[in-house]
Amino acid sequence: MRIAIVGAGAAGYFAALQLQELLPEAEVKLYEKATPLAKVKVSGGGRCNVTHACFDPAELVQYYPRGGKELLGPFHHFQPGDTIAWFADRGVELKVEEDGRMFPITDKSQTIIDCFQNTLRPETLMKVGIADFVQDGEGWKIVTDQGEEERFDRLVITVGSSPKFAKMMEQKGITMVSAVPSLFTFHIPDETLHALSGLAFHAEVEIEGAPWTTEGPMLITHWGASGPAVLKMSAWAARLMAEREYKAEMLLNSLPQWNRDTVKQQLIEVRKASAKKQVINAHPPGVTNRWWNFVVQKHNKEKDKLWADVTNEAIDNWTELLTQMRLPVNGKSTFKEEFVTAGGVDLRSINFKTMESKEQKHLYFAGEVLDIDAVTGGFNFQAAWTTAVIAARGISNSFS
Ligand SMILES: Cc1cc2nc3c(=O)[nH]c(=O)nc-3n(C[C@H](O)[C@H](O)[C@H](O)COP(=O)(O)OP(=O)(O)OC[C@H]3O[C@@H](n4cnc5c(N)ncnc54)[C@H](O)[C@@H]3O)c2cc1C
Repeated sequence: MRIAIVGAGAAGYFAALQLQELLPEAEVKLYEKATPLAKVKVSGGGRCNVTHACFDPAELVQYYPRGGKELLGPFHHFQPGDTIAWFADRGVELKVEEDGRMFPITDKSQTIIDCFQNTLRPETLMKVGIADFVQDGEGWKIVTDQGEEERFDRLVITVGSSPKFAKMMEQKGITMVSAVPSLFTFHIPDETLHALSGLAFHAEVEIEGAPWTTEGPMLITHWGASGPAVLKMSAWAARLMAEREYKAEMLLNSLPQWNRDTVKQQLIEVRKASAKKQVINAHPPGVTNRWWNFVVQKHNKEKDKLWADVTNEAIDNWTELLTQMRLPVNGKSTFKEEFVTAGGVDLRSINFKTMESKEQKHLYFAGEVLDIDAVTGGFNFQAAWTTAVIAARGISNSFS
């Protein structure tokens, strides 16, 4: 039983560790062309957001713009509760933060790396890249960057979002979905908005012509908009935004706790209660002074009036601006804390009971090499852990 794993990132390492337990007598080789676990090291701002405290597979899958449907079955076999238990069994305790994200209690990604490196048999890790792989009877022959060839019975590909490897896989008849970035912030060319940089509030975001609505904290930056509400939208709309070359109309609801009628009613109340105040000096509850200033300037005909003189037309306009402000998006910026790629091996070509390719026998995939990605919060690593476990179990069963 000889098994090769290509790529010693989160998925590759976890697959090797699982195989070591399931098939202790097998020879497993984990190939890495650069630094093993490099992304784990920098993940979560150096703290590694290992998983998310969400233990119901049906709820968990809703955080995956791509792969949610396919991961439902695998999550019934290995989900965040199992991740927590796996690390606890090896002396690594995870803690949960208020928003559900889970980190090692040390707040150091090195804790995860040390755990993996201390658990894996040292002879498993091969510090050389893989230049090619070719079907060889029932197994696979791999060729290293140094031109050495070796034959294995099973091959697991965990190369993450490597474009070079993706191209090679496509040439070998593996069906691929083209890669586009996910998790990015929006450029909004509006200097008055940029002047509000640092302002944060709870909001609901939509993209015109798209079916998704995302909600959460929103952060105004000196180039546009960021924060969880925007990042979540960037993940859901990753492909659509790429097709539109990152030009879109963003619809922003800065008062999602109320419906339109309530917001309008609130403005009418302000007109009554603050009749003698200038428009700029009184606003509905839930709106900050800075945001109200921005809203009023967008429909500024009545900005210098007293509230008593405000027309119904202005009330309607401000209602619209507070609940459905249109902001033109033109471009994107990488979200440095956690960026992932949408695209990869087409999920329709994978058997999610084993992670084996339906196109090529004894070839398995796990992690970001697949067309699976999630919003921020530890879900991307959870997908890597789960698919690695399923692949290792699939391989183990294939030998029996
Ligand atoms: C800055 C940053 C922070 C992040 N933080 C988080 C977080 O806190 N929580 C979270 O859930 N997700 C986070 N993510 C996403 C997460 O890191 C990825 O989803 C995860 O690393 C995917 O794991 P993987 O093993 O599939 O791929 P990778 O981690 O990319 O590993 C693939 C490995 O394969 C190797 N490789 C590629 N080609 C070859 C070859 N030809 N031969 C041999 N080896 C090869 C690469 O060198 C690499 O080591 C973050 C991402 C980034 C960029």
